[in-house]
Amino acid sequence: PTNVVDEIGIALSNLADAAGGAFTPTLRLGVTGLSRAGKTIFITALIHNLLTGGRLPGFAPMAEGRFIGARLAEYPDATIPRFAYEQHLEALTGKEPTWPESTRRISQLRITLKYQSARWFSGMRGPSTVNLDIVDYPGEWLLDLPLLSLSFAEWSTQALERARRAHSATEAGPFLALLDSTDPLKEANDVDAEALAAAFTRYLRESRHDGRALSTLPPGRFLLPGDLEGSPALTFAPLPPPHQAVRHTSLYTMLERRYEAYKDVVVKPFFRDHFARLDRQIVLVDMLRALNAGPEAVHDLETALTDVLACFRQGDSNPFLRLIARRIDRILFAATKADHLHHTSHDRLEAILNRLLANASRRARFAGAETRSVALAAVRATREGTIREKGETLDVILGTPMAGESLDGVTYDGKTEIALFPGDLPDDPEGVFEEGHPVELNFLRFLPPQKLERNAEGAYVLPHIRLDRAIDFLIGDWLK
Ligand code: GDP
Repeated sequence: PTNVVDEIGIALSNLADAAGGAFTPTLRLGVTGLSRAGKTIFITALIHNLLTGGRLPGFAPMAEGRFIGARLAEYPDATIPRFAYEQHLEALTGKEPTWPESTRRISQLRITLKYQSARWFSGMRGPSTVNLDIVDYPGEWLLDLPLLSLSFAEWSTQALERARRAHSATEAGPFLALLDSTDPLKEANDVDAEALAAAFTRYLRESRHDGRALSTLPPGRFLLPGDLEGSPALTFAPLPPPHQAVRHTSLYTMLERRYEAYKDVVVKPFFRDHFARLDRQIVLVDMLRALNAGPEAVHDLETALTDVLACFRQGDSNPFLRLIARRIDRILFAATKADHLHHTSHDRLEAILNRLLANASRRARFAGAETRSVALAAVRATREGTIREKGETLDVILGTPMAGESLDGVTYDGKTEIALFPGDLPDDPEGVFEEGHPVELNFLRFLPPQKLERNAEGAYVLPHIRLDRAIDFLIGDWLK
């Protein structure tokens, strides 16, 4: 009964808002990227900067003095986990700042922004408000889209072909061996299904290890199951399509049914209920890791971006996507962790990302939403300096490597600040796609900034690089 009273209360206050002309428009911003691309850090920094009126000179409403303030608001949909902003901020700004836990599943948060409109007639109307709904979801889940147009036999053929490629041999070996010793036509049973699914999942996860391929293979939930960990919807694996008719009690049929269930109960609802309702999207990309790993990883990343862009293509050839109207009109691709480079390389990083995107857009035949790319650091963990070495002046970054990080035979203790020459990115973005032109970056994970300034109100100021530009592109025009 209390719920009913609550609901009536909410309904009445909505009515009151509407009557008072206080209809608040809602902008739904999707934040995605493959695991560890920087989603959690980006969202935490975004919210903190908006709540505390951070240093965002490139965010027009703030630069023009029209941004009044922001507050966290109750999220209207209680069935979706809330983004743990307070916990993440506490990790970043606590006594010993650490990086918070990463995204494992979908989560959301609403923040209400108050601003003075720049339109001529708005002076009479007073401040306006807009709800910004931030939806955080693993990029791995987007890569499931192609499954919707593939039968189990088609998907199996593709997946097994990839697993058998030479460079997958180590990761895929145990799964392929198990597959060889299992007869798909035998009687269905859970033990075999679970063993195959477990081996297949291990292979998918291992093909993503540092330095190895960076893009990812569907099904996305095998990598990031969210709330579905251990559920039967995730206990399937590709099987060689049989040449003869199969009994409906066979292992093959069992896994085929589970594959179809995965599409129906996992993939479709995600695209329909979450993805299709977004207005804006930011896709975070860990370019530096790919560059460091070499041309193969860069090509892999291009493939992943092509698949991601295909999800945003309007009038898509995918029959399921044609059914759901999408309204995303702006997509920002952001190369994260730019603080690992000296600022003289930031434009080059952007140029490389642009190049990658141009290739991906062409391959995905993408047209529609306006896209842009930026190199940013949502939370800047380094400062810049110069050192003289052998009569040469080098641009370096200063930061404290995390305990256990090592480079050139030195292992760091997590307490010592060092000066690091991060290396240069090539002038010509084409270089990173070619074998024989390795980009040699010195790459270490740094601790988040250990001493934070406070603003006049006593709130911590999180340093960043170009976060303001990203925010301006994503939401600035809604605050006109
Ligand atoms: P998610 O899996 O996409 O949510 O990734 P996170 O946001 O948790 O980021 C993964 C890791 O990347 C963090 O733990 C940090 O070590 C690092 N990272 C993310 N953003 C930044 C950044 O702006 N600067 C630096 N230096 N490191 C970052």
